[in-house]
Amino acid sequence: MLGGTAASPGVGIGRAYVIDPRRFHVPRREIAISEVDSEVGRFVEGLGRTHDHLEAIKNRLPHGEHRQILEAQQMMLRDPDLTTRVEELIRGEHVSAEWAVDRVATEIRETLERADDGYFRERGSDIAFLAERVLLQLSGEEAGEILPPPGSIVIARDLSPADTAELARAQVVGIVTAGGGQTSHSAIMARSLEIPAVVGVEDILSHVQSDDMVIVDAIEGVVIVRPDAAELERWQNVRTRYEVFEDRLQREHGLPGIARDGTHIVLRANVALEAEVASARFHGAEGVGLYRTEYAYMDRDTAPTEEEHYRNAKHVLHRFAPHPVVFRTFDLGSDKPTRLVRYAEREHNPAMGIRALRLALRERDMFLCQLRGLLRAAVHGPLRIMLPLVSGVSELREALAVINQARAALAEERVAHDSEVPVGIMIEMPSAALVADSLAKYVDFMSIGTNDLIQYTLAIDRTNDEVGYLYRPLHPAILRLVHRVSAAGKAAGVSVSLCGEMAADPRYTWVLVGLGVRELSMHPSAIPVIKSIIRGSTLSEMEALAREVLDAEDADEAERRVLEIMESKFPEHLLHGGGQRLVAETRPRRVREDGG
Ligand code: PEP
Ligand code: MG
Repeated sequence: MLGGTAASPGVGIGRAYVIDPRRFHVPRREIAISEVDSEVGRFVEGLGRTHDHLEAIKNRLPHGEHRQILEAQQMMLRDPDLTTRVEELIRGEHVSAEWAVDRVATEIRETLERADDGYFRERGSDIAFLAERVLLQLSGEEAGEILPPPGSIVIARDLSPADTAELARAQVVGIVTAGGGQTSHSAIMARSLEIPAVVGVEDILSHVQSDDMVIVDAIEGVVIVRPDAAELERWQNVRTRYEVFEDRLQREHGLPGIARDGTHIVLRANVALEAEVASARFHGAEGVGLYRTEYAYMDRDTAPTEEEHYRNAKHVLHRFAPHPVVFRTFDLGSDKPTRLVRYAEREHNPAMGIRALRLALRERDMFLCQLRGLLRAAVHGPLRIMLPLVSGVSELREALAVINQARAALAEERVAHDSEVPVGIMIEMPSAALVADSLAKYVDFMSIGTNDLIQYTLAIDRTNDEVGYLYRPLHPAILRLVHRVSAAGKAAGVSVSLCGEMAADPRYTWVLVGLGVRELSMHPSAIPVIKSIIRGSTLSEMEALAREVLDAEDADEAERRVLEIMESKFPEHLLHGGGQRLVAETRPRRVREDGG
């Protein structure tokens, strides 16, 4: 049994089909000056054929969304960083097209791989795959089609998105790769093609040979090679249960999160990266409940411009129309570092230092710049602005004054913007939860951020594994704060949502809805499971459980009771298969100094 990262959920059982790592050794070949023009022509033709080949693969794809990944690859093929540079090399150094492609791709890949951000590092492997496809076309070989027998489990060092798309056509039932991560395009592609995949199983190639029986458990993230009869039977049962569960989710896809008594729970997505936009739409999110804008500030030396904020927000609004998108103003500092401001370096306790809204209020120009971009984009769709880590009324008033300042400046400059944009706050500190009734008078909505609320209420650093055992979402103190905030919202006629990781765990759905939360925002792939729970429940049973656990003496008692009720009502797979996996996949997203 080998461990890796579950990248696309499901269970696959079949015979291994090992794809040899395709390695190209491209020797430097000099050409005569008289051959330069035809060599450039050969390169351009090779590019064209690669483009057409990707187009053919794209057109065979069943769904719409993930075609964008292949379109992005086609765009990379036209990128002047690649094409002009290759041509320059052929002309300047009189070398073969193959050598020039290989060298330029290596340069781009090495630059991307030096990035701190995992997302950019993954793009490095996209470049390598593309170069490989161009080299195949230049070599005149058929462009590397991998078509294993139907029902195979494909084992490879790594796969390009195009390879992965082809595997779906071949009716492959599982994928195991030595490389790759959650955000690699092949992982994204596998998820949307619904092929169970476990990635990052480093030494897989030394343990498996073609034709070996293999089980891919892409719920737990394990691969079993040459299972015995008992293991095989056990996993066949797991697979059947999973398929029943998936069938149900599929039937409910596109339906709203309406409970059996008609109560509508709005299910929105948490989004930080462009790749998650497609996933959020794919999983049926009714808009975005938390857009983490701080990612746009990381790994760069200048803050995003007003124009960048405007263009990005406009783009995201278009993708989710007619649903709303809640843009949280940058939540930087502490463990979300940026080179742009470095308060954390001087702080002994950055989680309690200059971060989030406190930082925005100090860095007024940066804050105003973002607010102006967002207010301008709001003319293109239902945009909402949300302030992070608000501590109380006076700080909120100060922030609202800055928003008014941005509005006034835009009005004076006669720049198109929406001056009525709804403004809300995150409730992430016990102080804010306790005065939620006062805060509610100033805002249009409130969203409970349980990741930080738990950290600050229970005094546990959410990035410190040593105290991880104390991170108890069902601690009665947390439940009472959530209840208090939803009651304050209800009294003031202000909507209350919850966007911490708690929202993505199906075991907690009854308690949260029962406590009065009517909107949940979560990692996109958690939406179907949570929707399924809601559609199988009534508000009165959810409220009864919430009342019971509010009076629990401690987290142990609350957890026991919640599990007892939820397990009696829902299949194990729904609570622990899908849900557990999703929660593990989407633990509170934190970026450490070491980029981990
Ligand atoms: C939270 O604190 O619950 C939250 C959603 O914000 P973040 O995880 O980005 O701090
Ligand atoms: Mg937070």
